Amino acid sequence: YFLRPWIFLRGAPSMKFLPPEGPPEVAFAGRSNVGKSSLINALLAQKGLARTSNTPGRTQELNFFVPDGYSGAEGDMPPIALIDMPGYGFAKAPKAQVDAWTELVFSYLRGRVTLKRVFLLIDARHGIKKNDEEVMDLLDKAAVSYQVVLTKADKIKPPAVARLVEETHGRLKKRPAAFPELVATSSEKGLGIEDLRAAIHRAVEG
Ligand code: GDP
Repeated sequence: YFLRPWIFLRGAPSMKFLPPEGPPEVAFAGRSNVGKSSLINALLAQKGLARTSNTPGRTQELNFFVPDGYSGAEGDMPPIALIDMPGYGFAKAPKAQVDAWTELVFSYLRGRVTLKRVFLLIDARHGIKKNDEEVMDLLDKAAVSYQVVLTKADKIKPPAVARLVEETHGRLKKRPAAFPELVATSSEKGLGIEDLRAAIHRAVEG
């Protein structure tokens, strides 16, 4: 399904706008500016699909993408849905926005039976930050499987990537819902994109 064109299905600003549970879902989460839109566009090989923006904290919706060509009716369900979650950790975000984010994301993560795995994006230059830890705490508590994806790996030297992978492994060990493998990617250089596709396949089929 990564060879097919994908379409934007719908944006859900609150729980009542969520599409009904159907195909297995994988969700992408990360701090604002982590490179999430770029990675989704690289993954789906479609440039303008997820909006790349330098305005952090802009998308406050859960954006649903599916491969094109399915009616969505029973028996003609897409094999997967990909959810672009609103970024977090934008320092200047007003409290009301943070609260709205927390409410939407927490309810989705806690209650979504068809959610197979969350891919948690971490900027390779910065590593895991405090608000990433908070999201991991939530995922561990909700027993939602998650896998760390390093982004912008082209911005640091290969030995530094290797060190970060090693260090991150150590930090994930004590986390019950964390998937033990991580993927280092660069949307810019096309690094790790195939590995990430394979991880998504395994998450959806497993
Ligand atoms: P989002 O806010 O998480 O969706 O992040 P974006 O995808 O909009 O990317 C934020 C910024 O990081 C943009 O200026 C991108 O050009 C840049 N960026 C994203 N991915 C990469 C990458 O793999 N390598 C480099 N060097 N820059 C990237």
